[in-house]
Amino acid sequence: MENLLINILFVLLPILLFQLFYINTDLKYKNIILAIVFSISIMICMNFPITNYEGHLFDLRYIAFVLGALYGGKKVAIFLYCVILFYRFYIGGAGFYIAFIDSTLLLIILLFLLIPKYQTYSLKTKINVTMALLGLSAIISFISCHTLFGFILHAPIVLLSSFVVAQALTMGLSVYFLEYLISIDTMKKQLYHNEKLKSLSEMAASISHEVRNPLTVTRGFIQLLKSPGIDDEKKNTYLDLSLQELDRAETIISDYLTFAKPHVNVDLELLNITDEMNYVANVMQPYALMQNVSIKKEFLVKDSYILGNRKQFHQCLINLSKNAIESMQNGGKLVFKVTKENKKITLKLTDTGVGMSSEQIARLGVPFFTNKEKGTGLGTMVAFSIVKAMKGDIKVNSKMNEGTTFTISIPESVSKSKTD
Ligand code: ADP
Ligand code: MG
Repeated sequence: MENLLINILFVLLPILLFQLFYINTDLKYKNIILAIVFSISIMICMNFPITNYEGHLFDLRYIAFVLGALYGGKKVAIFLYCVILFYRFYIGGAGFYIAFIDSTLLLIILLFLLIPKYQTYSLKTKINVTMALLGLSAIISFISCHTLFGFILHAPIVLLSSFVVAQALTMGLSVYFLEYLISIDTMKKQLYHNEKLKSLSEMAASISHEVRNPLTVTRGFIQLLKSPGIDDEKKNTYLDLSLQELDRAETIISDYLTFAKPHVNVDLELLNITDEMNYVANVMQPYALMQNVSIKKEFLVKDSYILGNRKQFHQCLINLSKNAIESMQNGGKLVFKVTKENKKITLKLTDTGVGMSSEQIARLGVPFFTNKEKGTGLGTMVAFSIVKAMKGDIKVNSKMNEGTTFTISIPESVSKSKTD
């Protein structure tokens, strides 16, 4: 009994090692490692036979042999075959001839019948086939031994039959165990692959979201151009702003392409905060008009600068103002306020819209969180990450049915000389 357990252990142990070397790596030499590991297992099985009945070794070496052959391929099969014969020869005794007959028979079946088709079998077939093979090989081994030396079948029938069963069961268990480990690994790889696909689709969604912003704005301008009695000066301003926005759409696309690459060198420049806020307010004007929203500016600073990427900064504010305007379906007021305190510039975007519950606030900035039918739930996420990149922070205050205030504070940059 003890030795049976030792045999089973030494058959199962290589499977664990197999997992380490075979599954987890793309090792060039994995078949060599496999051959060595299973050879050791074979030799240990033969050294600690379950019983030794008048020179006939009852051990589980053939399980290691079959496993190594089926999962390592033909070369491993031939190598393990040689190991069995050499080692059996080294141990000595007439049993060598039995081993020769058994292993040659197994090798032929493996090489010509099993190995070529094995990987196409279902798990159930794999277990059934290998169990049958090992059970049968034990019986054949007894018959050939009896034919040659005429003693083994006199051994207690309990011993013989329990060996056949033990060998077959251990084989089935080993295959099940191994296949289980392989399936876990396949699942892991699948998961990794899915994860990659997911980030790809997130990327695509965010690109289309960001491009939609300038398109909506441009659409607003064009709609205004259609209104009757519009003077030339206004017409030109609208046209210019439309063109600017279309350019923005284009640069966003190219920006995202650079985002896709690991490291981005975005150009940082000193931004005059009131100029940029004016720009954004102008850009949002038509969209606000469409929704009956009036935009109010309260700029309490002059000639203050922050360091950042201009396009990204615009994108951040446009995303937030767009949300603010969208929250005021029945019209309202959007206030842009700029103040300065302790070398920090504070921007406040206050709307009189539907507001948010505390659960909604908590989920802000989480990708794909949206309450809109056609929303993407990326606007705030992008805005938050841009503020973070500018070493700023962002706070949200909101009351249901009263309105929302986004407060962004960004460190002031003092070196004005650069901007002149
Ligand atoms: P989207 O605008 O595509 O829905 P966002 O990330 O821009 O995605 O916004 C996520 C959600 O946060 C919105 O669906 C909206 O419910 C809520 N939200 C954002 N800003 C405001 C705001 N100023 N007032 C009310 N709700 C807002
Ligand atoms: Mg949005």
